[in-house]
Amino acid sequence: MIYNAPDRKGRFGPYGGAYIPEILVPELDALRVAFEESWQDAEFHVQYQDLLKTYVGRPTALTPANRLSEALGGGHILLKREDLCHTGAHKINNTIGQILLARKMGKTRIIAETGAGQHGVATATVAARFGLQCVVYMGVEDTERQALNVARMQLLGAEVRPVTSGSQTLKDATNEAIRDWVSNPTDTFYIIGSVVGPHPYPMMVRSFHNVIGEEVKRQLNELTDRNTPDVLVACVGGGSNAIGLFYPFINHPEVQMFGVEAAGEGLDGRHAATLTRGAMGVLHGAMSYLLQDDDGQIELAHSISAGLDYPGVGPEHSWLKDLGRVTYLTETDKNALAGVELLSRTEGIIPALETAHAIAALKKIVPQVAPDSIIVVNCSGRGDKDMQTIMDNL
Ligand SMILES: *Cc1c(COP(=O)(O)O)cnc(C)c1O
Repeated sequence: MIYNAPDRKGRFGPYGGAYIPEILVPELDALRVAFEESWQDAEFHVQYQDLLKTYVGRPTALTPANRLSEALGGGHILLKREDLCHTGAHKINNTIGQILLARKMGKTRIIAETGAGQHGVATATVAARFGLQCVVYMGVEDTERQALNVARMQLLGAEVRPVTSGSQTLKDATNEAIRDWVSNPTDTFYIIGSVVGPHPYPMMVRSFHNVIGEEVKRQLNELTDRNTPDVLVACVGGGSNAIGLFYPFINHPEVQMFGVEAAGEGLDGRHAATLTRGAMGVLHGAMSYLLQDDDGQIELAHSISAGLDYPGVGPEHSWLKDLGRVTYLTETDKNALAGVELLSRTEGIIPALETAHAIAALKKIVPQVAPDSIIVVNCSGRGDKDMQTIMDNL
């Protein structure tokens, strides 16, 4: 079977779609058309690729991790270094792409939601680069936990609007951003930060992150005589860094794929293991697996890494799980902290706490695969932003 989701309605099997207020139907349609035209347009690609090269710093390195491989007792582990992107994580691949669309569509105002503030910073960064007004919604509780990122966004010229409704975290910030868009549909462009939300966002955000897997293909060919790795590993919050790595290999059945969710305090305690423990439902405009109670109320997620701390997940990951194409594992906060230490000590690379979940999972994955397997791990971000949390916990 050739995998080619989503269909024209943005469906990944039963997942995805667009569950949205009627006023946004023409806006999402216009966005889909603008994206599809741009993606076919050679001039758009020249502009996008030029920014990835001269501003983001792509291509990012593919780093052999020999001491890590040795410590884990096998495999040839390679790290895809998204931590080397401008702003310190993969997120800017997407915000660069979306702001080019905003300009093409003549939008003058950018809005975004943010949890930890990483997507807010990546959005404020590109808004500054193009001189567009930028408003970022952030739960009050998150503005307090992530004061440094609030200061970064403000320095970059964005207005940070604290959200006091609900649990005062990412889920509520997203609700506020959607409300803003409903009130200002004509001049405003909503930059969503992962492969979530209504169609066409999951498809569009995936496309902007495909550069990760495409570069791996070329770099693998230079480093080895192979075009495809044996194993791919990435952490999954909404799922954008994972799908960016996986998608270019999805129709290569010989490539095994592992997504790693946050088990927080453990699967019987507070966690963010949406695919592992969630059930089907609608959140923020799409059908997907969700963490919800028996009445369908969204449950609060927990992870030591703010970027994985979300009760939903991209609809495509829900479909890939049901298809059995990707295996989803979980790692606890404690294992993630050990993962930070392991990568720091073996390779001299301090990963983000999100990324550390993927590193931690290697202890389970390496013994399962052939000893000479080529294993590419997405190093989605750097750990500078997490130093306080790491110091408080190690
Ligand atoms: C935001 C973030 C994630 C999680 O988001 P995805 O959409 O699942 O990729 C992972 N790693 C880092 C470093 C992040 O900043």
